[in-house]
Amino acid sequence: MDEKVPLEQKTEQSSKTIEALYREERRFEPSPAFRHHAVVSDPSIYEKAAADPEGFWAEQAEHLHWYKKWEQVRKWDPPWAQWFVGGKLNVSYNCLDRHVETWRRNKAAIIWEGEPGEERVLTYGDLYREVNKFANVLKHLGVRRGDRVAIYLPMIPELPIAMLACARLGALHTVVFGGFSPESLRGRINDAEAKVLITSDGGYRRGTVVPLKQNADEAVKECPSIRDVVVVRRVGEAAKIHFQEGRDHWWHTLMKDAALYCPPEEMDAEDPLYTLYTSGTTAKPKGILHTTGGYLVGVAATHRWVFDIREEDVYWCTADIGWVTGHSYIVYGPLANGTTSLMYEGSPDWPAKDRFWQIIEKYRVTILYTAPTAIRSFMGWGDQFPAQHDLTSLRLLGTVGEPINPEAWMWYHDHIGGKRCPIVDTWWQTETGMILISPLPGLTTTKPGSATRPLPGIEADIVDEQGQSVPLGGGGYLVLKGPWPAMLRTIYKDPDRYVSTYFGRYGPKVYFTGDGAKRDTEGYFWLMGRVDDVMNVSGHRISTTEVESALVNHPSVAEAAVIGKAHSIKGQAISAFVTLRAGVATSKEKVDELKRHVQEKIGALARPEDIFFTAELPKTRSGKIMRRLLRDVAEGRALGDTTTLADPAVVARLREQYGEESGA
Ligand code: AMP
Repeated sequence: MDEKVPLEQKTEQSSKTIEALYREERRFEPSPAFRHHAVVSDPSIYEKAAADPEGFWAEQAEHLHWYKKWEQVRKWDPPWAQWFVGGKLNVSYNCLDRHVETWRRNKAAIIWEGEPGEERVLTYGDLYREVNKFANVLKHLGVRRGDRVAIYLPMIPELPIAMLACARLGALHTVVFGGFSPESLRGRINDAEAKVLITSDGGYRRGTVVPLKQNADEAVKECPSIRDVVVVRRVGEAAKIHFQEGRDHWWHTLMKDAALYCPPEEMDAEDPLYTLYTSGTTAKPKGILHTTGGYLVGVAATHRWVFDIREEDVYWCTADIGWVTGHSYIVYGPLANGTTSLMYEGSPDWPAKDRFWQIIEKYRVTILYTAPTAIRSFMGWGDQFPAQHDLTSLRLLGTVGEPINPEAWMWYHDHIGGKRCPIVDTWWQTETGMILISPLPGLTTTKPGSATRPLPGIEADIVDEQGQSVPLGGGGYLVLKGPWPAMLRTIYKDPDRYVSTYFGRYGPKVYFTGDGAKRDTEGYFWLMGRVDDVMNVSGHRISTTEVESALVNHPSVAEAAVIGKAHSIKGQAISAFVTLRAGVATSKEKVDELKRHVQEKIGALARPEDIFFTAELPKTRSGKIMRRLLRDVAEGRALGDTTTLADPAVVARLREQYGEESGA
């Protein structure tokens, strides 16, 4: 357990940075030309939404196809929300059928670029056909409305096809990011009690083959609910795979005989659409549950406003679909809006460091949505890479995942946006389902490093420990007052945890985000990062407890404390302080072994950057580990308050050793 650290201390470093940001005087107004053509150009949208939120969201819902209209826009029985109560719709119908009934049948829905350079373009007509066929395949395997299907795939078109096929049948999908270990995959499949797993023989990552099928085999050994495994052939001979008769099936074999049409299920607006697991403050990931109507209304509307979507856009969100950003802003939002969405399988530096810029030039991408950690890497690689390519097709840039530092913002603006593209810094979470704080590119004057203000219809506030709203110029905890359409409805099979995690702090009406934030005198929001035990490594959420559990699971480890330390590219990097069991010697090999162990238990994204051995961990008199001090040690700062420490000499020793070890 962590000690309860007041916000001011927890965010001490960020506060200093934020003070510096306050002096940020650069302002970027939308150009008159951009404003003139923008999807949202009337500033009264904020007042209108605040004055009549139900009318406002109902208007957004009118953009979708409903089999039956809702009876009530929202029902808020805090902390339980329902949206578009009584309404009936199907997500795959909205993303496909209604487009193929128009000229969009022949419009590109997905432009896919494989890491080795293959190209595939699926029109809305193609995607419609594939989704219908795969829905019939799933049906044939016994998947019915309400069943769960796990998906463990690389970034290939079969991934959105599988998701939309589930949505067509009313089955819930649980997508597991391909970088997760067999054990992480197993935990998610078992929590979801999935009937079917969809995977591939392998995937490409920087020219090497990721053995997804092998990982899947390892995982399902202990997944009693899995009856069938569908395998996409992606790497062919490059992967040595084992096929289990009766359980495993090739995707292409099943698809060969599948019927071309599968009627979409009429789903209730509040029927679940999917679960997606994310790290919380305990070792067990939470299954965030999203439902049908409110979610689709929320992601479609925000995608349209924030990215200023036009019919002719080529929109590219570089996230992996294994994260919520990919769910909402590669699959559901863009397809609901009939957008052409680009999907890239590989890494930004493969085969060369100009890969992103080459793709933008090749497909004339107009909108790019990526993460600050990627931007910082690009900056480090050098200006020459984007300079080699024609990026003049771009008209709008977005970022997500973590706070963006003003230097990265400016570099993005100057070198990628050619000083002409507005930047939308979008704040949201797996739980929120949709973007909640962001500029509207045709309206908002931006400041480098600020996500600016809550979107129309969103009540975000910054409060102190007692839940009192802090005045402009102050900092505190970011909260959301009142429901929004795409909010999570619960944690799968754990409603109590839903209540305690999000509504335990300030009562049932106030959603606690876990983020610290400040608001400047003009009302702009500046996000400061997590205030709980969740780290943000390259924009991915990992809990300290999850990594600690993986470490103490190793036979050599007696105790472990994990912190996220500031890192110039990743935002945060994982540092682990480990006490070994008696008789176990410290060595460089032991460090590597423990790093590998964490990677095997959770996945490469959780591999600690450094591991430091210590005879003791700094604890309060009541026995709680003082992570703040560990963070001070790891980041080489003057130690904060040590008065509650049981033995202050522990930290001094640690610091002495750590300073030597890290060369600080
Ligand atoms: P996830 O649920 O994995 O998408 O992570 C959500 C968390 O990422 C938030 O709670 C924030 O800490 C962080 N985050 C996401 N977007 C932003 C942003 N634009 N600015 C600052 N932090 C962000």
